[in-house]
Amino acid sequence: MKYDDLFSQSLKRLHDEQRYRVFIEIERIAGECPFAVWKPPSGPRKVVMWCSNDYLGMSRHPKVIEALTETARRTGIGAGGTRNIAGTNSPLVELEYELADLHGKEAALLFTSGYVSNQAGISTIARLIPDCLILSDELNHNSMIEGVRQSGVERKIWRHNDVAALEHLLAAEPSRPKLILFESLYSMDGDTAPINRICELAERYDAMTYCDEVHAVGMYGPRGAGTAAQDGAMHRIDVIEGTLAKAFGCLGGYITGSRSLVDAVRSHAPGFIFTTALAPPLCAAATAAIRHLKTSDLERRRQQANAARLKQVLVSAGLPILPTNTHIVPLMVGDPRLCKAASDLLLDDHGIYIQPINYPTVAKGTERLRITPTPYHDDVLIDQLRDALVDVWERLNLDFVLASVAAE
Ligand code: PLP
Repeated sequence: MKYDDLFSQSLKRLHDEQRYRVFIEIERIAGECPFAVWKPPSGPRKVVMWCSNDYLGMSRHPKVIEALTETARRTGIGAGGTRNIAGTNSPLVELEYELADLHGKEAALLFTSGYVSNQAGISTIARLIPDCLILSDELNHNSMIEGVRQSGVERKIWRHNDVAALEHLLAAEPSRPKLILFESLYSMDGDTAPINRICELAERYDAMTYCDEVHAVGMYGPRGAGTAAQDGAMHRIDVIEGTLAKAFGCLGGYITGSRSLVDAVRSHAPGFIFTTALAPPLCAAATAAIRHLKTSDLERRRQQANAARLKQVLVSAGLPILPTNTHIVPLMVGDPRLCKAASDLLLDDHGIYIQPINYPTVAKGTERLRITPTPYHDDVLIDQLRDALVDVWERLNLDFVLASVAAE
């Protein structure tokens, strides 16, 4: 058998379905956020990044870089093994304390990514609850879906953000243990969950709640704890999961909750037990970012002001953005080929990088450019982006009207 042919055929299928992903090579410039150097075969070019999840530019904050380099010099880079083998390095202990405090919980547990924290956290928690029924929002992230799948327990899907649909499922199983899974902020549409209403239902029907705050931590709430903190609902959620890789600018993921829950996941989750712990310098860097954003509102305020101005400027130009109350600005295209073409033209002709978002990340027909302004995109850059987008929209003959399908 020619095994390689099988791989080539699978790639051809992706190309045929216009799902083949192309990653550009890029080097961000720490001192010049949001600029980066793009490295195509024709030679390097300076471009503006408009789609990074380093939402607040914390990856290059002087305090964060200093914490990383100082810890690396003191302790070295790697953790030296799993926590079972090599012990828990002090920067991890400090970071878990910081995270528990951030979310007002008794304890926190670190994982090597937000993806792993969902996969390992959800699967382990659900398996430890006898006869557990999982109720999962239909737009939950792939890492949550994998956690559900790995748990092997029964799951039912509720229509996105529809509390009546959730209540219907809860009421049908009054005496069974139930685990409700949802995100606080959905990163593709930029909409938020009705957190307090979900918690009310959880309390009424005696269900546990697990909330992914990956896109909200650092960004919302007086200390950057996320959307639940902003809504005054943090104490009502049993498990809050987050990442250190987006607004905190580093790498790693975590869950926070009661001491016994966290200890049980620590003791049972293979995705925690059998992998090398996070590098201590990264943990120190994340702690520095979290501490900074607990007291500094400057980055959040600037980011929100830029997002508001960007939305207003794009709407005034007639561009079809999905209305959101959050920092995410989805610009709808509705076709995978045109979405890629728009992204290519922006990069080639305008020095602007916004990656195309196509199926399966979003539903077919809702392909889009997902724009994420940072505190460092100024008015000039926003106006340049508008002009570039109008040019691309006209050249590709794209729709200036927001199609109703975009809002589903
Ligand atoms: N949860 C959600 C909702 C996400 O969008 C992502 C990644 O984008 C993750 C979890 C995974 O987080 P990480 O990038 O830290 O692995």
